[in-house]
Amino acid sequence: MKLCVIEGDGIGHEVVPAAVRVLRQLMPGLEVVSAEAGWDRFEKTGEALPEDTVALAKEAGAVLFGACSSPSYPVAGYSSPIVSLRKRMETFANLRPTRFLPVPTARAGVDLVVVRENTEDLYIGDEHTEDAGDTGTATKRITRAATERIAHTAFRLARNEKRRRVTIVHKGNVLPQTDGLFRRVAYEVAKDYGDIETDELLVDTAAYWMVKDPARFDVVLTPNLYGDILSDMAAAWGGGLGLAPALNIGAEVAIAEPIHGSAPDIAGQGIANPTAVILSASMLARHHWNKPAIADRIDAAVTAALSRGDYTADVLGVNGMSTDEFADIICGGLG
Ligand code: ATP
Repeated sequence: MKLCVIEGDGIGHEVVPAAVRVLRQLMPGLEVVSAEAGWDRFEKTGEALPEDTVALAKEAGAVLFGACSSPSYPVAGYSSPIVSLRKRMETFANLRPTRFLPVPTARAGVDLVVVRENTEDLYIGDEHTEDAGDTGTATKRITRAATERIAHTAFRLARNEKRRRVTIVHKGNVLPQTDGLFRRVAYEVAKDYGDIETDELLVDTAAYWMVKDPARFDVVLTPNLYGDILSDMAAAWGGGLGLAPALNIGAEVAIAEPIHGSAPDIAGQGIANPTAVILSASMLARHHWNKPAIADRIDAAVTAALSRGDYTADVLGVNGMSTDEFADIICGGLG
């Protein structure tokens, strides 16, 4: 079994090695290769996602990605390497679970998965400005094929995990040609899964309920952009961004990556929480390598550590243990 590790930028350099330690301890035969991508790499070489990184990632079939720092202004020749890598590896689904973790900031009763379409919507990269930069336009694309694929992923996941309901989230009232298509196709696919309840929410209403009563959600099926935003909101109920994992999946490939970014405000201090990336590695073991026993051991070690009150500083907003101290505790608790 092979894993391509891309630390990326910022705290990626601190949290990813913690997750690699955990995987190596549980899977001694795992072959690990390292590759570069991100803003720092772009500044050094003019390439954010080098071709040899893509080749290593494809060859391994499994990637553990930290985070990258993409600027919020146009930079000639730069585009987000993780968005490109998801496309190049054809990981069409992004699974973002939030479940209650034993920390004071988490909300009891929350156990949901956002299933986010990963290849289209406003993320296709078709964006330009006119009028000397005063008018900006971006294309939002939704297709039947990509919607069918993500909807089947959501309903299959609901079935496999014995979940009750899939909620389709869209803004079809304002965007009938794009989100309206997403909604229609998702309902068509729902007919194949009579055992799963289906309902729908407009994205603004979904945001309201995500704050007011997150336990009402089970599986959330959404286009790319809404999934990004709603899963960050959900992460607050799981105890915070430092604890929120994610997995991108394709036909036979997967990219594990925490939902948080490169956290430049704390990068280099050795205090970042590695839980999100460790739980992302657990998702890789469970969903991609089909090693549920290994995933269960990782999840149990994390739950046990948090139950004892072993936290990094982000959890309570006060001094906590360092990234490496927390990683030591997880490695010591793997059994
Ligand atoms: P980027 O531009 O890379 O998205 P960002 O700072 O805008 O970076 P995040 O990296 O997601 O976005 O961080 C948002 C906030 O959450 C920051 O205050 C950051 O310090 C905190 N944070 C994110 N991840 C972690 C983590 N693993 N451990 C501790 N704090 C974190």
